[in-house]
Amino acid sequence: MEHRMPVGKATISIVVPCYNEEKVIAETLKRLCALANRVEDDLELIFVDDGSADQTREIVKSFDSQGVPIRLIGFSRNFGHQIAVSAGIDAAKGDAIVLIDADLQDPPEIIPEMIRKWREGYEVVYGVRTERPGESLFKVATARGFYRLLNEFSDVPIPFDTGDFRLMSKTVADVLRSMPERDRFLRGMVSWVGFKQTPLPYKRAPRFAGATKYPLAKMIRFAVDGILSFSIKPLQLSVSLGMTCAVMAVIGIVYALYLRIFTDIWVEGWTALMIAVLFLGGVQLISVGILGEYVGRIYSESKGRPLYVVDEYHGFPPP
Ligand code: UDP
Ligand code: MG
Repeated sequence: MEHRMPVGKATISIVVPCYNEEKVIAETLKRLCALANRVEDDLELIFVDDGSADQTREIVKSFDSQGVPIRLIGFSRNFGHQIAVSAGIDAAKGDAIVLIDADLQDPPEIIPEMIRKWREGYEVVYGVRTERPGESLFKVATARGFYRLLNEFSDVPIPFDTGDFRLMSKTVADVLRSMPERDRFLRGMVSWVGFKQTPLPYKRAPRFAGATKYPLAKMIRFAVDGILSFSIKPLQLSVSLGMTCAVMAVIGIVYALYLRIFTDIWVEGWTALMIAVLFLGGVQLISVGILGEYVGRIYSESKGRPLYVVDEYHGFPPP
């Protein structure tokens, strides 16, 4: 394949989703702007304010970036992390796009290394977390479990222990821009796109300040989204569950008939009946629920609403 990397100076867009990050955002701005001295390429910082209720937006707008272009997309309300990142990708003009969280858990200082790998010819350089200090054992354990489960289900392999911290080429970003789905699970979507991808191990730092925006309920939602938007195996699972029940019922029937016809005893008792009814009811409800999750997704896709609503663009060159 022909080499698509730019030979001379490139533009690198750095996309930062932020939601109520006033405690860290100034430091993030500072550390990202400091990168300008460490890379040959031009930088473009794109902050997506996901409907913050605090001073995040004002801090970004008034930051003195010493010449590094700082652009801001302000949402009309909170649309969610994955959508904020998607908006940033939509607006990015760079030859490569880096996604990074606002809370400095992902060190901006390894971005030059990502750029180097990209220049070697990789279309995607994804960060792999080798250590996650400052995160609860519970979060780390559930995250590990989730990636393993996800890979059991998903048709495309999705690398373990990755987040959204990654660099992607313009080619990959163009494909992402053409994927209109609203259940956006970006790390999976990037794997789906393919091309030459390479991991870059790094140590995840604790959050610089502020609190996580992913409480348990949101984490579970995110995990379910990840699995359901990458696989229809849960549907097949409900079919196998139904089959298993049916087989067990047949065995039961044969057994009961046998006793009734060939012996003097017959099966009685409401316990067995109750267990069978409850078990079947449970299996049916679970299957309907799984089905419902997919139907709900079809419903929200079919409405065809825009993914996000922008309240203001700031710092973008006039069209
Ligand atoms: N974020 C966002 N919208 C949301 C929730 C989070 O833009 O609704 C941003 C947040 O500001 C941060 C990134 O997404 O930059 C990751 O969130 P967080 O650090 O809270 O998640 P964690 O690292 O704890 O999983
Ligand atoms: Mg974080």
